[in-house]
Amino acid sequence: MTQVDTHSRTISYLRVSVTDRCNLRCVYCMPPEGIPWRPHTDILRYEEIAEIVRAAAELGITKVRLTGGEPLVRPGVAELVKMIAAMPGIDDLSMTTNGVALKRHAHALAQAGLHRVNISLDTLRPSRYESITRLGHLEKVFEGMHAAQEAGLSPIKINTVVIRGLNDDEVVDFARQTVDLEWNVRFIEVMPIGQCGVVDEGWRDEVVTAQEIRDQIERVLGPLEPAKVITGGGPARYYRLPDAKGTIGFITPVSEHFCTSCNRLRLTADGQLRPCLLSDQEIDLRTPLRLGADRAQIRALILEGIRGKPDRHHLSDCAPSSKRVMSEIGG
Ligand code: SAM
Ligand code: SF4
Repeated sequence: MTQVDTHSRTISYLRVSVTDRCNLRCVYCMPPEGIPWRPHTDILRYEEIAEIVRAAAELGITKVRLTGGEPLVRPGVAELVKMIAAMPGIDDLSMTTNGVALKRHAHALAQAGLHRVNISLDTLRPSRYESITRLGHLEKVFEGMHAAQEAGLSPIKINTVVIRGLNDDEVVDFARQTVDLEWNVRFIEVMPIGQCGVVDEGWRDEVVTAQEIRDQIERVLGPLEPAKVITGGGPARYYRLPDAKGTIGFITPVSEHFCTSCNRLRLTADGQLRPCLLSDQEIDLRTPLRLGADRAQIRALILEGIRGKPDRHHLSDCAPSSKRVMSEIGG
């Protein structure tokens, strides 16, 4: 049954981090040395994730996104996709991935019932990709994107985090790609989560606002027109260049928060329910599940999370703080 929280928001979307591990170390997400991986016993088994998603679906969750860490580094993730795809009530099942291993997995994921993917890509320049991700190779992402298209995992959205002095000189290049390619590029304002080197005390200076990005694009390529929201809805506002095949979206957690329409909950890989990305409030689902809690008890805990969901984040009032880095929460 649909749940409305105490701030009149309908909660319909669950983001599930399937692992805290990753094959990259993006500068805004993880420290260079990585983070100590949680032991396997701390990480929810696929059956445990499925049980939580089933309980959430009974509470009106219709949309599920698998994320990480990097979801494709967890062996057998297509098995989890299959379990969730078969659940009554889930009508949108997607994944956020860095795309590096997507070529190998795209077909199996589509066969298992995944609907679509978001691919994170912050630069179109090979050497810059290596320095931003510290470990990645750009051609792998393009191969992954191509494989996803072939497998029908569309519409594909491209997530581009923009950081001042790092890649803000490429926003026009990204926008230009949308003219001839069906790219749905979404520019994301960088958020201060955890301590990972680039995004720390001076984080406000790193943020390039959506307005700045839009101005830069329009100065070179002309005015953007409003575009229809593409599948999945979410907080992005979409535009397109005249006659372009693709779209350009803006996600503005910093300059214009979208908390009043936030419809989401998050589940960390170690089984903690996080009602808000930017609040450290968490509800432990793993312990009760392992002590034998039944579906109704898990539903009650999820409801507690929904009722306690903060009205908004407070990035504008206070310094960043999180006991987890972004890769542990899943974005
Ligand atoms: N590894 C996958 C990937 O990179 O797509 C999924 C996990 S990643 C944490 C999910 C999303 O969070 C990515 O699109 C990434 O760019 C974004 N992200 C990570 N750190 C961020 C930050 N500090 N501010 C804004 N977005 C961030
Ligand atoms: Fe890994 Fe994704 Fe974080 Fe990059 S953004 S370090 S790919 S989890």
